[in-house]
Amino acid sequence: MFHNLNIYELENWLRQESPDELLPLWHNANLIRDQYVGNEVHFRGLIEISNYCNRQCLYCGIRGERKDIHRYRMSDEEILECVDKAKNYDYGTIVIQGGEDPGISPKRISELVKRIKSETDMAVTLSLGEQPEMVFRLWRKSGADRYLLKIETTDTNLLKSIHPGEPYGSRMECLYHLQDLGYEIGSGVMIGIPGQTHSVLSQDLEWFRKINLDMIGIGPYLPHPDTPLGQACGINIEDQVPNTELMTNKTIALARILCPEVNIPATTALTVLNPKKGRERVLSHGANVVMPNLTPLEYRILYDIYPKNFNNQVMDKNSPEYLGEMVNRLGRPMGKGQGGREKRRMKYCG
Ligand code: SAM
Repeated sequence: MFHNLNIYELENWLRQESPDELLPLWHNANLIRDQYVGNEVHFRGLIEISNYCNRQCLYCGIRGERKDIHRYRMSDEEILECVDKAKNYDYGTIVIQGGEDPGISPKRISELVKRIKSETDMAVTLSLGEQPEMVFRLWRKSGADRYLLKIETTDTNLLKSIHPGEPYGSRMECLYHLQDLGYEIGSGVMIGIPGQTHSVLSQDLEWFRKINLDMIGIGPYLPHPDTPLGQACGINIEDQVPNTELMTNKTIALARILCPEVNIPATTALTVLNPKKGRERVLSHGANVVMPNLTPLEYRILYDIYPKNFNNQVMDKNSPEYLGEMVNRLGRPMGKGQGGREKRRMKYCG
């Protein structure tokens, strides 16, 4: 039933809404997760180092043109304090994320990575947007292990409608450069972007399989009222993919079946949709990674990519303590070591 899923079968699974009919999807995704990446949940300490950005992504709350937001940039000392926290929690990976900030030089990141690599055993994942190949090369030489760059959608027209002015293919090109340089590469999409159809989303899933990703990040699109896309109402195309928890879970389960060995995080955006159970549920549907947020509170509030509904205690639900207890409750052990992709021989051909 799940062997060699073709694009039409993927689309049918994405359309499936019946809880009974979906049971085999959840069951298989969980089984394959267990068989290929084990029962452990890996913890990656997330540090959001800057909310300056010179991009204009129409959905993102830290887009450059947004004027009503206070911008911050963390100092090296502040970043290294967060790294220390991750070390004390015994995490195997630190994720350094931020907008495309012209105020942070490639050299500064390079020195920071060198320092982290010389003082800890942690893997370093960078997520700092599109960069020239020579910058990726410099950071790799300094010791960076992994890079996250979400493609958001593989559809040319949809991409144009959310990333104005971005030449089609530039993110893909970056991912190929990163792969050639020996990084583990992560990419992914948002679920329910206005204009995304089931057929487009099934093409995205096909692309995950083709490019041989090491990490796949999939989260719901959350409209931000202070962005052009968040303000645009009435975009209601036929066959629109809904930005729901269910659709996100189905896409993650299918990604696990198609790419059995990858690391897949249970994203924070899911917690916004379902603060109580969002992340727990997806850990049983194929995900195997959580990303506790180590960014100091005063900055975390300003990393306003989507509305996080702070009154709903989404912040607490990203704390190392909360996530540690949650994983414990699920009876899943915390992953040891760096938790990189295990490049096993493909036993399963999804
Ligand atoms: N600058 C880096 C980049 O572009 O990859 C990293 C920062 S960017 C803000 C990280 C991710 O936030 C994006 O890849 C996007 O998927 C997500 N994001 C931004 N706005 C969002 C929204 N309104 N809803 C859901 N996810 C969003």
